[in-house]
Amino acid sequence: MAGFSQFFASQQSRNERLAAISAPLRHPEEVFRTADRGKGLDAEAAASLFAAAGRDQNCRIEIQAAANRVREHWATKTVEFIIPVYLASFCQNECLYCGYRRSNPIAERIRLGLADFERQLDLVLSWGHRQIELVLSDDPEFGAETLARYVAATRRKLEALGGGVVALCSPVYQQEDYVRLREAGLDWVVEWQETYHRSHYDRWHFAGSPKRNFDSRLDLWDRVIPAGITKIGMGVLLGLYDFRYDALAVIEHGNYLRRSYGIEPHALGIPRLKPARGVLASQKPSRFTVSDDDFRLVVSVYHLAFPTSRLFFNTRESYDLNISLVAGGDLFTVDCETLPGAYLRRHLPGQFSTHDYPPRREVLARLEQRGLAGKYLTEETPCEIALPAPAPAAALDQKRWRDQHAQVRARLQDWEMALDRLSNNGAQALERQAADASLREILEFLKTVLTSHCRQEESELFPAFHPDAEVTSKLAAFRADHERFGVDLDKFERQMVSYGLSRDPTVLLTLGARMIREMRAHLEAEEQLWSSLKGHNV
Ligand code: SF4
Repeated sequence: MAGFSQFFASQQSRNERLAAISAPLRHPEEVFRTADRGKGLDAEAAASLFAAAGRDQNCRIEIQAAANRVREHWATKTVEFIIPVYLASFCQNECLYCGYRRSNPIAERIRLGLADFERQLDLVLSWGHRQIELVLSDDPEFGAETLARYVAATRRKLEALGGGVVALCSPVYQQEDYVRLREAGLDWVVEWQETYHRSHYDRWHFAGSPKRNFDSRLDLWDRVIPAGITKIGMGVLLGLYDFRYDALAVIEHGNYLRRSYGIEPHALGIPRLKPARGVLASQKPSRFTVSDDDFRLVVSVYHLAFPTSRLFFNTRESYDLNISLVAGGDLFTVDCETLPGAYLRRHLPGQFSTHDYPPRREVLARLEQRGLAGKYLTEETPCEIALPAPAPAAALDQKRWRDQHAQVRARLQDWEMALDRLSNNGAQALERQAADASLREILEFLKTVLTSHCRQEESELFPAFHPDAEVTSKLAAFRADHERFGVDLDKFERQMVSYGLSRDPTVLLTLGARMIREMRAHLEAEEQLWSSLKGHNV
């Protein structure tokens, strides 16, 4: 049987046209009447809503009201809780929007062994979670057969507690792998197409990455469903291309699944591109950045187009935004760590930035006030697994942190001198070569020693500070600096390549001077904070 890629090849330009229409092809009232019947929408109807919404705030309010009405009528009065448990952060892909891309120098690489994974699992199960989403990067050491052992362990533990659901967000596999995973106890598969726009997909996924195979990804559900897994979670990463185009493609794909297999998508992802450490593409707005208003519009259109599917609300978005949009029948994440093993450590940066949420019981109560029952979040039970103790005395050892700062300062000085040598236009070839070599060495040092120092500080030193408002905001600023340093180091490395070709050092000099200035200011600000804290050794 031909897969979705073959069908979509003939739809891509139509989709492009529909995404660009400026006047609706159907009146919104007519679209609402269609949606009221609970059978969803076709791409033309959805495109009409996007066109009508334009900048018309009243129309957007009407669309949201219609979406709420349709959900009230067709969806259940429950909201399902789901918690991600990351297994690995090693990755062979170069997705430019992701903190775990292969070449990101500041990503922390972890692969959880089965025993460590089970300890994480015991902890989140003790919190009452009964819907577990196993998440892993494209780690070549972590094939489907290995993964099946983690799925089976999750299934076993859930069954021992009265049952639950196992979901998976992973690299894409072959049909026989999904059969194996289903047999191990997997219930449903979550996979985002990222973007349905072929040339933009190629831009975001570097050549040589296994994930660059656009058609194979498009045909994923044509492998998963015949493997016997009929609950599928589909969607795009909003912000990689025009959101209207991508949302319409998701609707096309959902309608294809209805026609071909007679199933509704189990879930629809609404992840929006968010900052990630060391990811340049995620740090600044682009013409595809999706505003909060447009995000609300996409949620409403999905609610109308898939009246019984679960929209997957996640902690990339603020709690206030998500709680204002979630409807009956949706999925909701309250606890989320995106670094493998992080539930048993302290809150640490992982694949992307997440927001802090209120305690899960408070969220549950808020939903109940709206007449929505929480599902897959049961009573908490005592857990014998010890959460991390406050930072040990060694973490507060002043000498250790100051020595590391001194090391970094010395390399910043070397860096300044190497840039000085480059700025001398009349420099001889030999001198230029020496400056080049020195810059490469310094860059390597900063990518390893500086980034490791930043990570250690965040996990060992920062939690030791008393979290009053002033300190919390300073530590948040330091974390943001660490994130930016990773991006800048990446940028500087790319500029070294350009310089190697052009021999014009201008950009390298400006960028380097700024980075040195900012790193010095950062070191100083951290030391000021340490010395202002009474009762701490740092
Ligand atoms: S999105 Fe997934 S495959 Fe791509 S770099 Fe990140 S973890 Fe790897």
